[in-house]
Amino acid sequence: MEKKIISVAITGNWGDKSNNPALPMTPEEMAESVYEAWKAGASVAHLHMRDENGVPTMRIDLFEKVIKLIRQRCDIIINMTSSGGHTLEGAQPEDIRVAPFETIKPEMGSYDCGTMNWLHKTVFENNPQFLERLGKVYIENQVKPEIEIFDLGMIETAKYYIKQGILKEPCHFQLIMGAPGGMAGTIENLVYAHAQLPKNSTWSASGLSKCHIPIMLATLAMGGHVRVGLEDNVYYAKGVLAKSNAQLVERAADIIRAAGYEVATVEEAREILGIQAKNYA
Ligand code: ZN
Repeated sequence: MEKKIISVAITGNWGDKSNNPALPMTPEEMAESVYEAWKAGASVAHLHMRDENGVPTMRIDLFEKVIKLIRQRCDIIINMTSSGGHTLEGAQPEDIRVAPFETIKPEMGSYDCGTMNWLHKTVFENNPQFLERLGKVYIENQVKPEIEIFDLGMIETAKYYIKQGILKEPCHFQLIMGAPGGMAGTIENLVYAHAQLPKNSTWSASGLSKCHIPIMLATLAMGGHVRVGLEDNVYYAKGVLAKSNAQLVERAADIIRAAGYEVATVEEAREILGIQAKNYA
């Protein structure tokens, strides 16, 4: 039976416990949340760090601490954000965004293929020089890019970097649908975006807020993998907060099985994505 990967994005750059008390903020909470999500079927953990005051950060010591706590509990593919401790003031300098990948060399890292107006409040800057540099750092350190696509033009940008040798095929795309400032979370957009991807790619999608379930259903029908988690949705349903990341993973696993697929194990996900397990010694 075909295997489907569930990625879990446990904590993003936005929001805190006032939005959902279940949002993991400390290293211990993050590791425990990943572990619970792994038990429910997640095979990739997409990580953002928060400092002692809850502010997004790219601090290497925090990534190391969370990864260590995760590895004490389970083996799951580690996917670190490169979004750079983004606040409403913007991201941190590029050196700080790149450094954790040179030090930790995780199995995966996010690669946001363009600049956008995020939440209609701030500029999420991924300029050409940064994308070239990050792509090279990923290749040098065997980090598989999770190419996050918020808008259709970002797919063409990814193709440009494939041609330049900055992204190595086969690529893995993450279509983020319905983010304020990005493409709307419609099935038409999903079908169109999918049709633009290089044919040898693997791909996954996540719909934010009200398009979450429709995008998941359509993605599975189209053969894609899925991403869930409190980074993308603090709500489980309209007006109902999610109890945990694991609850969102459990629902995705149920839908995958109902659709006639199997939930990929961590080993199977590595095989599908073409990545080697790492020790994080
Ligand atoms: Zn993220």
